[in-house]
Amino acid sequence: MPGKHYDFLIIGGGLACASAAKELVGLGHGGGIGVLAEEKEAPYDRPPLSKEYLLGEFERDWLFLLNGDFCREHGIDLQLGIAAAAVDTGAHQVTAADGSRFSYGKLLIASGCHLRLLTVPGSDLPGLYYLRTLAESEAIREAALHAGQAVVIGGGFIGLEAASVLSQIGLDVKVVHRGDRLFEKFASDEISAFFEELYASKGVHSIYEDEVVNLGGKSRLEMVATRAGRTLPCDIAVAGIGVWPDTGYLEGSGLRLDNGVVVNEFLEAGAPDVYAAGDIANFMDVVYGRQRRIEHWDNAIRQGRRAAANMAGGRGEFRNVSYFYSTVFGLTFDFLGDMNGFDDVVPLGSFENKSATVLYLREGVLRAAFLLGRSPQERSTVAEMIAAKQPLKEVEARLAS
Ligand code: NAP
Repeated sequence: MPGKHYDFLIIGGGLACASAAKELVGLGHGGGIGVLAEEKEAPYDRPPLSKEYLLGEFERDWLFLLNGDFCREHGIDLQLGIAAAAVDTGAHQVTAADGSRFSYGKLLIASGCHLRLLTVPGSDLPGLYYLRTLAESEAIREAALHAGQAVVIGGGFIGLEAASVLSQIGLDVKVVHRGDRLFEKFASDEISAFFEELYASKGVHSIYEDEVVNLGGKSRLEMVATRAGRTLPCDIAVAGIGVWPDTGYLEGSGLRLDNGVVVNEFLEAGAPDVYAAGDIANFMDVVYGRQRRIEHWDNAIRQGRRAAANMAGGRGEFRNVSYFYSTVFGLTFDFLGDMNGFDDVVPLGSFENKSATVLYLREGVLRAAFLLGRSPQERSTVAEMIAAKQPLKEVEARLAS
């Protein structure tokens, strides 16, 4: 039985979905948009979940990106709590986990990523939390308000943002990190040293080159044990150990699946009328001439928009200097571009004064930059210079002017 038909069907209810739906409406294609979202909440913004919202400084209502009135007015049918289970690109059909079927004119795959879960003994104890959804952020906040000690497992973005908030809420926080430095991925002694000092000054204890091997407690979490033999008592633990693009439901669809859904610079997925955007899209980044997958907010928004415009009849390439930001202990930093393959790192400014830029170069050409306490205007200038493949001398001259 053919089910409901949508001119535009979006799988996934996150940021890429919301920006695509809004773009389609803006282009005059409201009325025939369907969304299949695994979560029961309408699409919401994720960055505040590990920052202001977790801290209690952000209203719940502000998180939502597509509200009921907007959807009703513009004919966006939000099918919440419905996960896609199979896609038949030949028949232009999607089957959901509950067996219901949907047909589409154009399909956008924007189902994002799934959490990587701890598998060590005790990982099922109440008191261990993950942080990806709104419900998880709320559960952590509620637990944190009644807790004294927290262990944060993983020193990535979730781990370090959560550690900052839990510490600000008043908990005694320890971070267990496999790496030998904080933010070691930025490959800059200055950046790592700055954040190590910042976290230490706020009372966060960072444990390096160690990992959790066991979680213990009678009926709920009471302690975390590490490979190096540490026993860390705690009331709660928050694990931020990464995410992965779940393409299992796309097996057999004929789409190329390799670290996500492989798409070209037009975000086309290789089957007629199918596109992908956001965390799940392994896209051709024309700025760098390589396939990449990006798990950050700005990319999801911009790709959702571009994919929608292409689904609506355009064929523009997705060209963007990638960007993300983070805020810890009230300090915001930005990262632009792709540091992959860099062969030189040039720090400028003063970390002491919380105003610094770190440039990443390859063969003398700017590829990426980290900015702390710099203006939005400088951010735009740096993005332009990355896109224009500017050499170091010109970059330094322009930043100094
Ligand atoms: P992430 O940034 O990829 O960091 C994962 C961390 O967990 C890494 O430090 C990794 O260490 C560690 N890890 C992996 N497996 C582990 C294990 N079994 N035991 C202990 N540590 C382990 O991922 P995330 O922090 O979980 O964040 C989830 C996603 O949300 C990411 O895509 C992230 O980009 C996104 N996010 C972005 C922002 C932002 O843009 N500001 C904020 C929050 C979240 P190794 O390096 O040793 O593997």
